[in-house]
Amino acid sequence: MKLSESPTTQHRFNDLTFFVKRDDLLHSQFSGNKARKFMSLLTDDYPHIKQLVGYGSVQANSLYSLAALCAIKKWKLTFYVDHIPNYVKQKPTGNYRGALDLGANIVDLSQLEDRNARHARDYIKDNFTDLSETLLIPEGGRSPMAEEGVKTLAQEILNWKLMERCENLVVALPSGTGTTALYLQKYLEHTDIEVVTCACVGEKEYLIEQFLEVDSSAPHPTIIGTDKKHHFGRLDQGEYELWKNLEEQTQVEFDLLYDPFMWQNLLDWLPKNPNKMLLYIHQGGILGNESMVGRYRHWLSI
Ligand SMILES: *Cc1c(COP(=O)(O)O)cnc(C)c1O
Repeated sequence: MKLSESPTTQHRFNDLTFFVKRDDLLHSQFSGNKARKFMSLLTDDYPHIKQLVGYGSVQANSLYSLAALCAIKKWKLTFYVDHIPNYVKQKPTGNYRGALDLGANIVDLSQLEDRNARHARDYIKDNFTDLSETLLIPEGGRSPMAEEGVKTLAQEILNWKLMERCENLVVALPSGTGTTALYLQKYLEHTDIEVVTCACVGEKEYLIEQFLEVDSSAPHPTIIGTDKKHHFGRLDQGEYELWKNLEEQTQVEFDLLYDPFMWQNLLDWLPKNPNKMLLYIHQGGILGNESMVGRYRHWLSI
């Protein structure tokens, strides 16, 4: 199976005209950033594989995307999380509920008697030694496995640019592990397109370390934003309001975990780079908004 190209749409926000590459619309379930990163698992042949094993947070986008991938491939997904809070177990929402609906086996490590304080990664390594039918997936898809799918994204951007005859293009996307931004830079390096990103998890230095871990020889994208550390997953009223304004003016629902911080940085960066035409990569994550909006409503009493 192959995914078809994602569309690119034009929008206005305040006085800014820009484009959005709609990777949130790649597929009804297998979409966004994680679909690009796990693309090779979808398109390549794995005749002996019957199961994927991963780990991460209970509301991770990768949990839902891996569940969707496994549903398409008729594989089993076993996904380890550190802890599932009781309120989530009682009333599953977002990516967790979506993954359960797709048949994922989600294991709460805190309930296991044989964990012995091991990190999820080590628990998996110790318990899955026969890898003839099982593939282990690194957290968030931080892996060379992601290169093929992100290369396809870069090619779609180049094709689109040819058709639109867009000059001074800047491609923007927020980073978690930085894997997507790094491979995009790698495949857009010899064009006149600039790739900008920001560090949503930790400081700039940490993002650069992660770039080097993924591919030590690849050129780096431009990291924009202040040196202030962004606390991943922490609620921020300014970010929430920006997210709502974006949706009201563009009719596009962005992700609440990564996108508002990137937009904050862009709204500062773009006026200093006035001739740039923005292409924003929508990396999906919309199902995860359900639990984020719930947290915001509770926090802001709205
Ligand atoms: C995973 C994810 C990111 C971060 O991607 P990296 O390749 O880890 O930098 C950004 N946005 C969304 C919606 C994601 O799911």
